[in-house]
Amino acid sequence: MKIKLWGVRGSIPSPLTQAEYSRRLKEIVDRAIATGLTREGVDDFLTSLTPDLRYIYGGNTTCIEVQPRPGVHLIVDAGTGIVALGDELMKGPCGKGEGELYLFFTHTHWDHIQGLPFFKPLYVPGNRITFIATVPDLEDRLITQMQPLFFPMPFHQTLSQKKFHTLGQDSFSCEGLTITTFELRHPGGSTAYRFLENQKSFIFATDAEFTGTDIESRSPYDDFFSAADVLLMDAQYTLDDHFNKFDWGHTSQTMAVNCAVKWKVKNLILTHHEPSYPDDRLYQNYMAAIEHRQNLGVRDLNIYLGREGMQIALE
Ligand SMILES: [Zn+2]
Ligand SMILES: [Zn+2]
Repeated sequence: MKIKLWGVRGSIPSPLTQAEYSRRLKEIVDRAIATGLTREGVDDFLTSLTPDLRYIYGGNTTCIEVQPRPGVHLIVDAGTGIVALGDELMKGPCGKGEGELYLFFTHTHWDHIQGLPFFKPLYVPGNRITFIATVPDLEDRLITQMQPLFFPMPFHQTLSQKKFHTLGQDSFSCEGLTITTFELRHPGGSTAYRFLENQKSFIFATDAEFTGTDIESRSPYDDFFSAADVLLMDAQYTLDDHFNKFDWGHTSQTMAVNCAVKWKVKNLILTHHEPSYPDDRLYQNYMAAIEHRQNLGVRDLNIYLGREGMQIALE
């Protein structure tokens, strides 16, 4: 399966600010001057920049895409990242009313549904969209978001064909993937999804608060998370900030590493970034997570900082 991240920011969309853009420009220009950059060396210079200068980690809220094979699209969450995904999908069968999509929801806090009214495939007659969640009233929640007081087009006046499916305890089979769920600690609840194909597992667990007691001894988390090939996990805060935001339903980068180590995860991707952290702060936090892994003496855990457009192939 292939996984693509379309939105990695938590809580609210967070566009690059003018101050941050100016700071970056100045730093890049300073480095260019210091290295005596010539026109011929521009490409090499740009690729040599540190990730916090080279990339924009992204301001869109949560949306990820899972593709078991080309042309088959499972989407988790409809934060503002889903808007660009929708534009991409419109270039294919969705643009002709021949699309089939599966749209899973972790929960319905705004940052996980607010892109849906701007998701173009929703409006195209003939497109078939199955909405999937563990809560039985997902349809009512999505209708509420698009009531006339909040949005001009009611949910059921959009022209795609819609089906709703409520997941139970049993695993769910979808396009060759076996999908299981786990309920996470978060205000109002949140669902983790585990996608399994050919013995390779990808787990998406965002909007979740993990603490030391969760990993001190054997816990219900162990069976679900154990030995995940890729774990995309809420790591919104630094450890210090998490002390001040205890019970807010999110995890620190340090604890995310501790969890991944306990569960013997192979690849950990940090996501649901705190909206008030600029990219250089995110990168510093990421380097702190790497240092924490080293201090734990762990060698077989890869850690990545989630970024819009990041793709992972799991084969
Ligand atoms: Zn969230
Ligand atoms: Zn939430």
